[in-house]
Amino acid sequence: MSCDRRCTQAPSSEDMPIEQIKEFIRESEELSYPWESIGLLGGEPTLHPRIKEIVCLLADYVNSRSRCELFLVSNAHGERVRHVLENIRKTIQVVERPKVKRNDWFNNVDLAPMDFGKPTHACRITSECGLGLTSRGYFPCGPGAAIARVLQIDVGVRSLRQATQENLLKALPTLCACCGHALAVRIGEDDSVSPFWRQAYADYRSRCMRIKE
Ligand code: SF4
Repeated sequence: MSCDRRCTQAPSSEDMPIEQIKEFIRESEELSYPWESIGLLGGEPTLHPRIKEIVCLLADYVNSRSRCELFLVSNAHGERVRHVLENIRKTIQVVERPKVKRNDWFNNVDLAPMDFGKPTHACRITSECGLGLTSRGYFPCGPGAAIARVLQIDVGVRSLRQATQENLLKALPTLCACCGHALAVRIGEDDSVSPFWRQAYADYRSRCMRIKE
């Protein structure tokens, strides 16, 4: 989902189609998938043009289950976002995470381990936060999904049925090699952008320019 706060390196107006949310719910019901928690985050979810519908669909699904929480993470930044939050607070738990310096919530993802000769390894986000779902499919983690978007690499798993541990783990070597979460450097401690990401953002902007022409 798009973002109005920090995501200046690789801006996108891409929104997850609501049909994909419906398919997620349909497959979850069909597979009796044991979700413990479902979160809307990544970019700024309140900027999605159909966020109220999405929240209602997911709330209906979660309410039909005995043990599953539903939450939305927002930067709570700006009038439009705060207006939406007021309208959905009764239906979904809202977690406000303003993106400020010295924030203990965010690592600097722009430090690619490969630039520092560090070995590739996954971080604890996969086990602590679970799967990520974007319009490109299911990923072993949310940051990995964001990396795949910027790099335009097709490593997402297309359906929940196919999102087995074996299939999801195949993407990790590629994703973790360039993901700053593996280094766990907090934003505010070091906000630099390593060479891999400087080039990746330049390539991204160049692709966007070509699409506009
Ligand atoms: S891609 Fe990043 S967030 Fe995902 S497991 Fe690897 S290091 Fe962690």
